[in-house]
Amino acid sequence: MSIAIVTGANRGLGFAAAEALAKKNYEVVFAARKTEELEKKLAPLKKEGLKVQALTLDVSDENSIKNFVKDITAKFSRLDVLVNNAGIFIDNEDLPIAEKILKTFKTNTLGPFLLTESLWPLLQKSSAARVVNVSSGMGQLSDMGGGSPSYRISKTALNTVTKLFSSQAGENILVNSVCPGWVKTEMGGSGATRTLEQGISGIIWAATLPNDGPNGSFFRDGKKREW
Ligand code: NDP
Repeated sequence: MSIAIVTGANRGLGFAAAEALAKKNYEVVFAARKTEELEKKLAPLKKEGLKVQALTLDVSDENSIKNFVKDITAKFSRLDVLVNNAGIFIDNEDLPIAEKILKTFKTNTLGPFLLTESLWPLLQKSSAARVVNVSSGMGQLSDMGGGSPSYRISKTALNTVTKLFSSQAGENILVNSVCPGWVKTEMGGSGATRTLEQGISGIIWAATLPNDGPNGSFFRDGKKREW
């Protein structure tokens, strides 16, 4: 059975992507801050016979990442899929701009970097590992608009994280960025144009790429986007 980790799997795109992978017969670790709340949501999936478990992870906290990686290393001898999904959008909050930029960077960029780096030895042990960084069109330099600087900077930098790891990936690991589009979640809001199902389709596509699939690119719905 292939093993997958999805971060920010408590709700929204993270929960939906993790559930979809479990239904594709992956053993899935739902990594989240609020594991008590998550356990209740996992109960029906476990009842269905899916191999799912909740594990505590705050991607903005280095110690939490260390403890999480220790737990994962004790449980598994390899890792096949890592979906760096956890993310925040706080540009509309009433905080000093420097604070917003740093806080967003810590969650949306530094967290995925540290987690991927720490789990890299386990990914290397897989014969077909996939890393999916859930990015955004708002981080696309070729289509950069104004506004929401904290979020835009963090996602552009997340795309850099994708390029960095993809360049050291070798034959067995494929690392890509995916934009889910504007999706109805707590972050996307009710005015968003896409369903959860539409949002996760490109994430699942990148998480289940064949061995000759792309590495080091940016996609939406399986179609290549400019950086
Ligand atoms: P939601 O706000 O609905 O969910 C975000 C999830 O991330 C929550 O489960 C939240 O956990 C988790 N999270 C936030 N901070 C941390 C942290 N420090 N450690 C662990 N988990 C954390 O957002 P979406 O599902 O919409 O977004 C998922 C990803 O998709 C994000 O990276 C987002 O930037 C990206 N995206 C979303 C778009 C959209 O339109 N929805 C568009 C483009 C990209 P908790 O429940 O504990 O708060």
